[in-house]
Amino acid sequence: MSERLSGFFADVAAKQQRTDNVTIARVGGDEFVMVIPNEQDPERLGKLAKDLLEKLCVPFEINGSHVNIGASIGITVFPNDGKTYEELLINADLAMYAAKERGRNTFALFTAEIAESAKTRLALEHDLKNAVRTKQLSVQYQPTICCKDGSIRGVEALARWQHPTLGNISPERFISIAEETGLVREIDRLVLQKAIEDIGGLMKSDLDIVLAVNISAAGIEDPFLVGEIAELIEVTGFDPTRLELEITESVAMRDPDSVCKSITGLRKLGIRLAIDDFGAGYSNLATLARLPFDTVKLDRSLVSGLASDREKQTIVKLGLTLASELGFETVVEGIEKLEELEFVATFGATFAQGFLFSPPVPVGELSTLLQPARLREIARAALKKHGSKAAPVAHPTVRVANG
Ligand code: C2E
Ligand code: MG
Ligand code: MG
Repeated sequence: MSERLSGFFADVAAKQQRTDNVTIARVGGDEFVMVIPNEQDPERLGKLAKDLLEKLCVPFEINGSHVNIGASIGITVFPNDGKTYEELLINADLAMYAAKERGRNTFALFTAEIAESAKTRLALEHDLKNAVRTKQLSVQYQPTICCKDGSIRGVEALARWQHPTLGNISPERFISIAEETGLVREIDRLVLQKAIEDIGGLMKSDLDIVLAVNISAAGIEDPFLVGEIAELIEVTGFDPTRLELEITESVAMRDPDSVCKSITGLRKLGIRLAIDDFGAGYSNLATLARLPFDTVKLDRSLVSGLASDREKQTIVKLGLTLASELGFETVVEGIEKLEELEFVATFGATFAQGFLFSPPVPVGELSTLLQPARLREIARAALKKHGSKAAPVAHPTVRVANG
C-alpha cells in the first residue's frame, strides 16, 4: 500500500517536474495522511484524489491471490480549513467520513456543511448517551403474519427515540451513531429487557407468539452475550423457544466463526435465530447454509416495486426457493401492497411483515391488534384500499383466521 502511494506521488512529481516532496505517513491501522505542499486549488486536488483512487482500485496480488481494497479520501486545504496540523487533520477526518457516507471509493473536500453536520452529529451523540443512560428509549412492536392462514406468528421489537427537541429520530440514524460510539450493546440490552417484559406480560394471557429482537454486530461478537441472555431468561422465566434474535446478513457474513460461536450457544438455550435483511448485501451461500439459523428475513428493498419489476420478482422467487431448500422459514419484510403479499405467498413465503398489516405500534395498541377480530378488520380495510373485490376470507392463498 505505502509503495503504491509513494509510487503514485513520485509519478505525479515527475510529470509536473516538481521537486517539493509529498509526505506520506501511516497514522492508524488503515489510515494514511498525505501532506501535499504548495497546492491549494480544490479542482486540482479533486483530480489528484480521483487518480489516486483509480490506482488503489487495481487488485493487489498476494501469495497468488487477487485482493481488492477500497478507499475514501478527505481533503483539507491550509489555511482555509485549519491553521494547525491538528485542526487540518480533524477536518480531513470529517471530510473522509462524509466521503464514506457517499459510498466507497470516493473523495470529499472539507466544507462548511460538513462542519455543520459534524456538529449536529456530535450533539446527537451526546443526547443519545443521555437518552440511553436515563432509559428514554422506547420499544414498538410490528406483527408478522402467517401467509397460509393470516394468523399472527409474532412481533418484532423495534427501538424508538423521541428526542426532546428534534422529535422522532429514525433508528437507522441513531443505531448507526450507537454502533460507532459503542452504545449499541446497551440499546440492545434495553430493548431486549423491555420487550421480554412487555410481550412476556401479554403471553401470560395465553397468547402464543414469537418475539423477535434485533442484535447488533457488537452484541453477536461479544463472548458474554450468551451468558447474559441465559441469565435474563432465567430471571424473567420467558420461554426461550418463543424468542428469536435477528442478526443482519452483513454481520453474519463479516465474521462467520465468531457469529457461529454465539449462535450455537444461543441455540443450546433453545433460542431461535434469524438472518435479517437478506438480499440487501453480499452473501456467501456456502456460509449461509452452514450457519444454524431458523429463519431468513428477505430485505424490504427486494419488495418495493415488486409488482412491476421482473428482475425483483426473479430474485424474490429464487430467494424464497433457496431459503426453503436450505430448510429455513422465511419472513418477507416491507409488504405494503396486496399484490406483494399475493406474490410472496404464492412463491412459498412462510410469513410476511409490513405496513399492509400494521406499522410498529406501542405495546398498548399491540394488545388490541392481537385480537383476531381486529386483525380481520385491518385485512378487510387493506383489501378495500387496494381495490380487491375479494373478501379476505375467500382469498386463495392468504386467509385471515376466524376469531
Ligand atoms: P429491521 O430489523 O429490518 O426492521 C424492519 C424495519 O422496516 C423497521 O424500520 C420497520 O419500521 C420497517 N418497516 C416495516 N414494514 C415496512 C413497510 O411495509 N415499508 C417500509 N418502508 N418499512 C417497513 P425501523 O424501525 O426504522 O428500523 C430500522 C432498522 O434499525 C431495523 O431494521 C434494525 O436493523 C435497526 N434496529 C431497530 N431497533 C433496533 C434495536 O433494538 N437494536 C438493533 N441492533 N437494531 C435495531
Ligand atoms: Mg429486524
Ligand atoms: Mg430487516
